[in-house]
Amino acid sequence: MFDPIRMLTGLVSPGGQRGRLLTFYFHRVLEQPDPMQPGEMDARLFELTLTWIGEQFQVLHPREACERLQRGDLPARAAVISFDDGYRDNHDVALPILLRHRMSAVFFIATGYMGEGVQFNDRLREAFRVLAAPELDLGWAGLGRLATASLADRLHALGQVRESVKYLEPDARWAAVERIEALCVASGGVLPSGRMMMTPQEVRQLEASGMEIGGHTRTHPILLAVDDTSAFADIQSGRDDLAAVLSAPPVLFSYPNGKLGRDFGLQHVEMAKRAGFSFGFSTERGVGTCRSDAMMLPRFMPWHGTPLKFKVQALRALGQ
Ligand SMILES: [Zn+2]
Repeated sequence: MFDPIRMLTGLVSPGGQRGRLLTFYFHRVLEQPDPMQPGEMDARLFELTLTWIGEQFQVLHPREACERLQRGDLPARAAVISFDDGYRDNHDVALPILLRHRMSAVFFIATGYMGEGVQFNDRLREAFRVLAAPELDLGWAGLGRLATASLADRLHALGQVRESVKYLEPDARWAAVERIEALCVASGGVLPSGRMMMTPQEVRQLEASGMEIGGHTRTHPILLAVDDTSAFADIQSGRDDLAAVLSAPPVLFSYPNGKLGRDFGLQHVEMAKRAGFSFGFSTERGVGTCRSDAMMLPRFMPWHGTPLKFKVQALRALGQ
């Protein structure tokens, strides 16, 4: 059947020396939509999204795609699917859907959280979820009194808190998270205890199912917010942790948060290479070409919409 979008995609991304690699990136695939995570991917939407991607692109095995990009022999309409952080739902929800679509993906794991760990953004969200007070006094964090009565207020307050603690140095960040959790518990809220991240066995199962596993540091620091010695140690130990779990050490890496100049610098690109990674991914928007720096391949986070909007958006990202 004639598909004008696929034809245009093939014209913009013809393969070979002029090949363009579009890398989609995701974090979670929730079983059900969650009002506290509006806009987050869920199982039904992920199923649809893979269908749309499959109609428009050729999804390659991530490592093969990187190597072919470098050699200049990508096929037309080449794409890669990637996930950051290592959420449990990647194994429980995303993996079966990927397998049904016969697609592979790369999962970048922050190894320090495997099993029972919880990242700061998830701890904050869960605290805000159970908060039983109409406002929160965050004068000590320079945020004043934030309204939290309605869902909209709560999400707004959560967003403000998340952005203000994200760039704190790690100890100060955890201290702020604990202080907010304590306020929520004092209001009568009960913090949840379910496991949120994959265990090492689940990561191994992804690998055994044909998926690629990549490094994402051990503790997920904003690399530019920590000193060079700690940054390198975190990149290296994340790789060592995965090497102990997988059949071979990982060669793909993604930078936490991923914006060049804000979250990581050129020194971290050198560190990732020195740690043994061959390909790196940022969250800069764009596509990889054979002229791209293999250690700074851009990615693209699709937003949701109709199939046509999704595909036009992917097509525009390809042209960047
Ligand atoms: Zn991440």
